[in-house]
Amino acid sequence: MSDLQKYQMLIGGEWVDASDGQTFESMNPYTGENWASFPRGTADDADRAVQAARKAFNSGDWANMTATQRGHLLRKLGDLIAAKAEDLAATEVRDNGKLIAEMGLQLKYVPQWYYYFGGLADKIEGAVTPIDKPDHFHYTRHEPLGVVCAITPWNSPLLLAGWKLAPALAAGNTVILKPSEFTSASSVEFARLFEEAGFPPGVVNVVTGYGHEIGAALTEHPGVDKITFTGGSETGRRVYQTGASQFKRVSLELGGKSPNIVFDDCDMDNAVKGAISGIFAATGQTCIAGSRLLVQESIHDEFVDKLVALAKTAKMGDPMLMDTQVGPVTTVPQYEKILSYLDVAKGEGAEVRLGGGKADAGKYFVQPTVFTGVNNKMRIAQEEVFGPVLSVIPFKDDEEAIEVGNDVIYGLAAGVWTQSMRRAFTMSAKLRAGSVWVNTYRAVSYMAPFGGYKQSGLGRESGQESIKEFMQTKSVWMSYAEDTPNPFIMR
Ligand code: NAP
Repeated sequence: MSDLQKYQMLIGGEWVDASDGQTFESMNPYTGENWASFPRGTADDADRAVQAARKAFNSGDWANMTATQRGHLLRKLGDLIAAKAEDLAATEVRDNGKLIAEMGLQLKYVPQWYYYFGGLADKIEGAVTPIDKPDHFHYTRHEPLGVVCAITPWNSPLLLAGWKLAPALAAGNTVILKPSEFTSASSVEFARLFEEAGFPPGVVNVVTGYGHEIGAALTEHPGVDKITFTGGSETGRRVYQTGASQFKRVSLELGGKSPNIVFDDCDMDNAVKGAISGIFAATGQTCIAGSRLLVQESIHDEFVDKLVALAKTAKMGDPMLMDTQVGPVTTVPQYEKILSYLDVAKGEGAEVRLGGGKADAGKYFVQPTVFTGVNNKMRIAQEEVFGPVLSVIPFKDDEEAIEVGNDVIYGLAAGVWTQSMRRAFTMSAKLRAGSVWVNTYRAVSYMAPFGGYKQSGLGRESGQESIKEFMQTKSVWMSYAEDTPNPFIMR
């Protein structure tokens, strides 16, 4: 008998299997063993979820709720997540292989998105316009879009779900969340909290299955008004094209190839730690990985020596242990992709200064790897690896740092290590990236807008402005004129 943990989907307040009863399994990447099964959602299930979300949007308790009441529910949800943080973190570690040391803290921080947007829900004000038409009164209303489809990747399921769901719900939309097939467990466990917090049925639906099946069916569904997607650029392009064909609103958080730029006037010990956190934290499986380390020529050798010395001490192994620093790669395709990029880099003539192959610390492990002698035209410097693989690229001066830093199709993030205020401001302005960190790296907050320039995406998540990604503006005109004027002339 199978001892797999069996999960179901939440649609319209009911826990259900796939319409055809099919399932798929999820693996623990540390052990390589399958541990859970999920409904393999179909196009019919996508339709059921959209109908449920539409119904909840159009009528009933949610449709009639005030923004203040919505905010209250979101804050209650935040409290429930905080109370369940340890369990949710453990589930993510089991399903995804991220470190418990990081996930424990991350899951305690996730409630902040629900508190922040819960607070914002009743502060979105329209305006009364000093309109230029006599005897007219004009005002604006900011209204929800309707049914939102939120698609998340496998690397940070609940954090990224929060970036989408908190503003979408605060704005009054209803939501269908589709997590990655590789890491669905925490999203389904999280779904239980919506019931407990008192969200009416159908306001939040969580479906599971394959991206090219239920994911595609959702993005193609005419009943979806907005798609908010986080994932790879190729999938993002497909989702954008599908959305465009029906004029849906689409926001995209995509890949990156971020430069982490170290100047010779930096605090070297801090910069070394910043370079490490940029690429080896989360086993490099983060969109904001500082995977191109640009180091000023004058300190290149000394810096690389220090970096390699510290990276060598990274403890690999069981992600459930608090002292593990580098965990497994989350998925088998990703593991194979990383290994293939190691070959690409070697084939291009990059020099292996550290790692460069598989690691024997569990099932799917890759050694923290540092390549030197990389030039920015190489594939290893241009393409997103999404693993613990760092390319070190030397540069001469500020101008070259800006040129090389910007010379990729992506623009998600950048890091700058300098003690010069002039450099800090100049680089922050000139780097074409949605987030620039100076003397820090990988900092995110519910208050700080996050998103991509260039092919790293469209739209922003977090921060006050992001709620408008889930709203539309209505112009309301009222006349108090006694006579209706000539109907053949525009007013
Ligand atoms: P992915 O393969 O693009 O998948 C992302 C999501 O899209 C998954 O839920 C996937 O489902 C679904 N999907 C796949 N095909 C689809 C289709 N045809 N229609 C609708 N949905 C579809 O990305 P990933 O490998 O999970 O995640 C890694 C990528 O995400 C990296 O490129 C990384 O940079 C990016 N990322 C970006 C950010 C950011 O904020 N900018 C944050 C984190 C990650 P299945 O998994 O079931 O196929």
